[in-house]
Amino acid sequence: MSKRLMIVDDSPVMRAFVRRTIQVTGLPTSAFLEASNGEEALKKLRASAEPVDLILTDINMPLMDGEGFLAHLKSDPALASIPVVVVSTDSTEQRVGSLLRLGASDYVRKPFPPERLSEVLCELLPDWAAQQEF
Ligand SMILES: [Mg+2]
Repeated sequence: MSKRLMIVDDSPVMRAFVRRTIQVTGLPTSAFLEASNGEEALKKLRASAEPVDLILTDINMPLMDGEGFLAHLKSDPALASIPVVVVSTDSTEQRVGSLLRLGASDYVRKPFPPERLSEVLCELLPDWAAQQEF
């Protein structure tokens, strides 16, 4: 079954890049929701009629950064089970550790090759990996 994903990043260029990278992996997607910060992401997730299968989020964003977003998401019973992959250039051990403690499932450092993102997504959603088209 194709998946519904959300990409959270304050850079529209980065959101488009992540979306295209996922399309290149051959993993079937039915929707890409996008948000430019944590606050907007929470609003869109709560307003969405259908659930989102996985979220990719940046760390450094205005209004509500990746850490704030994760904290709110994981304390909301309706949203807490959605896996979150952090995609960021900020890869200090301290930062990564705090994001994993907040409930992030994995971390991908920018810039990344499509294979790295594909590997992480397939590990988190094994039923999806079985449908990879190329
Ligand atoms: Mg940013």
